[in-house]
Amino acid sequence: MSTILLEVATPDKGDVYKNGINMLITRSIVGELGILPKHARLLTELVPHAMRIKEGGSEKQLFISGGFMEVTPDKITILADAAENPEDIDVERAKSAYKRAEERLSKKNPDIDIDRAEAALARAKARLLVKGVPIP
Ligand code: ATP
Repeated sequence: MSTILLEVATPDKGDVYKNGINMLITRSIVGELGILPKHARLLTELVPHAMRIKEGGSEKQLFISGGFMEVTPDKITILADAAENPEDIDVERAKSAYKRAEERLSKKNPDIDIDRAEAALARAKARLLVKGVPIP
């Protein structure tokens, strides 16, 4: 099966994931994208989500906080603010972030930065999804 190199890096951690994969299913600001080897060149912005990586007959998930993705026929490069493999996700921290964001949004306080709270909620949801934890 043909492969395409996937490299996911963050400013803090450097490479979080680097491997030849068979397919990436990711979410951009214009919707879901499936990337296979020999994909056309593409540059897009990603939203916070649980990316699906198909590799050697199995599938894994990787949390991505949003960022930029460049695709060439043999390489996918993602630069994200934050990215985590499942084993690096702290579930209790994600649950607390989820609760905090939800409380902020439910108070309807006019001083609240709604976009910021919604983004925090989306990050927490995606982290919990990667860990297979039901959303509270
Ligand atoms: P929090 O409010 O808990 O900081 P956040 O969504 O605002 O969550 P980010 O800004 O996305 O956090 O990430 C900041 C740093 O903390 C990144 O290095 C990220 O990998 C790490 N991080 C955040 N939440 C978690 C988590 N639940 N488990 C592991 N690492 C996390």
